[in-house]
Amino acid sequence: MKLTLQLRLVPTTDQAAALRATMAAFNAAATYAAQAGFAAGLFGQISIHHLVYYEIRTRFGLSSQLAVRAMAKAVECFQRDKTVCPTFKPDGAICYDQRVLSFHGLSAASLWTLRGRVEVPFVCGPYQRARQGRIKGQADLVWRGGTFYLLCTIEMPEDPPLAPQDVMGVDLGVINLATTSDGTTYSGVGIEACRTRYAKRRQRLQRAAALAQMDGKRPKKMRQALQRMAHKEAGFRRDVNHRISKTLVASAKGTQRGIALEDLTHIRARSRFRQPQRARMTGWAFAQLRRFVEYKAQRAGVPVGLVNPRHTSQGCNRCGHVERANRQSQARFSCHSCGYTTHADLNAAHNIRDRGRVKVPLVAVPLRQLRLPLA
Ligand SMILES: [Zn+2]
Repeated sequence: MKLTLQLRLVPTTDQAAALRATMAAFNAAATYAAQAGFAAGLFGQISIHHLVYYEIRTRFGLSSQLAVRAMAKAVECFQRDKTVCPTFKPDGAICYDQRVLSFHGLSAASLWTLRGRVEVPFVCGPYQRARQGRIKGQADLVWRGGTFYLLCTIEMPEDPPLAPQDVMGVDLGVINLATTSDGTTYSGVGIEACRTRYAKRRQRLQRAAALAQMDGKRPKKMRQALQRMAHKEAGFRRDVNHRISKTLVASAKGTQRGIALEDLTHIRARSRFRQPQRARMTGWAFAQLRRFVEYKAQRAGVPVGLVNPRHTSQGCNRCGHVERANRQSQARFSCHSCGYTTHADLNAAHNIRDRGRVKVPLVAVPLRQLRLPLA
């Protein structure tokens, strides 16, 4: 399976300037190619190549490879929509391939720029080091919040699919990010605290930025600080989601079980997330946690079944009675029919597991075939 490896570059000031200048030229060239193609009614790689290749090389000073990539960027947009002529931001991504990018050991990448090749060191942790040999020499150079990253596509081998003997149900929530049918919970307290802390800091900065603007100053520094903060917060959440998903998949694999998750395309309809702001805040975090569970499961050969989330939190796992009042509070479930009482998330996880037992055939099949439509 294909994964993306993210390397953070640490260029010198000169190197950073060279990279930004190259990005600007690359994106200006892509915009130029798009405009020329659009005006001439030509939208394919070959026809645009004939139209502007030499002009792009001379006008923007790009290497042959990057000129081809710049045109490809325009063509990709046209493949989605031929009715609009795209314009690319000066700090949009550049796609490098092995002719313009190479790696020097485990610590530096050599990149083609308008000012010649630069050898830029990058940060490499144990995760990246273990996977770096898999980089095929194609990568996107992106600029986010004042930092350059190389996003490298790598091919990771998958474990042979396991023959699941049972299913582990996983309920995703806000207070508890994840609760398994085994009764293990992963608290969202840390994430919520982090979010509140950043929200307060963000408010302060935004107020200061507004004041600066009234004085006629351009609050560029503050905008950058805001952006950096948003990245840090996202990074924190990503780490938490990585750790939870890793543990969940390891636990399922270690017990020869598949994993059942609610089909999140329906999650917004659920009563727990009625406040729209809350839903927006948590929506992507859920989606990310599910994505992480799914790809880690696929890599580990653990089948995943997506189940219909309808009434998973209101239905009694013991007798099947469905009533909104069964769920007495965020945490407490108490059945009005049979009197069964337990933690609400655990009851939901049990319901998800039971639906998963129907969804996940208890034999070994590839993950993709398990994405059955909802019953
Ligand atoms: Zn009941």
